[in-house]
Amino acid sequence: MTPGLTRREREITDINETLKILDKSKIVHIGLVDGDEPYVVPMNYGYTYENDALTLYLHGATEGKKLDLMRANPKVFFSIECDVEPFSGQVACQYGTSYSSVMGKGFAEILEAPEDKMEGLTLFMKTQTGIDFEFNERLVSAVSVIKINVTSFTAKHRPKPINA
Ligand SMILES: Cc1cc2nc3c(=O)[nH]c(=O)nc-3n(C[C@H](O)[C@H](O)[C@H](O)COP(=O)(O)OP(=O)(O)OC[C@H]3O[C@@H](n4cnc5c(N)ncnc54)[C@H](O)[C@@H]3O)c2cc1C
Repeated sequence: MTPGLTRREREITDINETLKILDKSKIVHIGLVDGDEPYVVPMNYGYTYENDALTLYLHGATEGKKLDLMRANPKVFFSIECDVEPFSGQVACQYGTSYSSVMGKGFAEILEAPEDKMEGLTLFMKTQTGIDFEFNERLVSAVSVIKINVTSFTAKHRPKPINA
């Protein structure tokens, strides 16, 4: 069991179920450290899960606030969800939202080598589209590619109540 995770009946411990969430949800919210304030930015992502290690790949412009913050402090927290479906009931407390989600933390690495960026973009596009795109040096020079080395993560599922 994951220490600190509430409502344990909803915890996902099967990695294959977790990977299904990562396949399905295309958007990640990346939490960064801005001095003594949080900064959260929504982004698309790609991922790999190899040798029990989860890695996320992001891409974007070559400058901006999130890149400045990652350079200053590479610590990252992330949140991903899918199958978000509101449900209703007879009284206010029976309303809610069913969902599947993954959260975790890690370290951001802004990739510099063209071959690393090409690989990262291919993995990004694979998650986003299911297609194995290839990139060349010219294409990757115009974007930043960020690798998130995930150090820990948890997954959770809230099912829709039977009577909802
Ligand atoms: C569903 C979704 C998917 C996205 N996917 C990607 C992606 O894959 N790659 C990518 O680079 N960007 C993506 N974006 C845009 C992303 O959220 C940021 O706007 C962008 O990356 C610039 O971030 P930055 O920190 O460099 O901000 P900057 O351009 O430096 O802007 C700084 C300021 O602008 C404001 N700001 C920045 N982003 C947003 C925002 N999304 N909404 C409201 N205010 C904002 C904030 O106040 C911030 O302080 C996505 C946005 C959404 C909603």
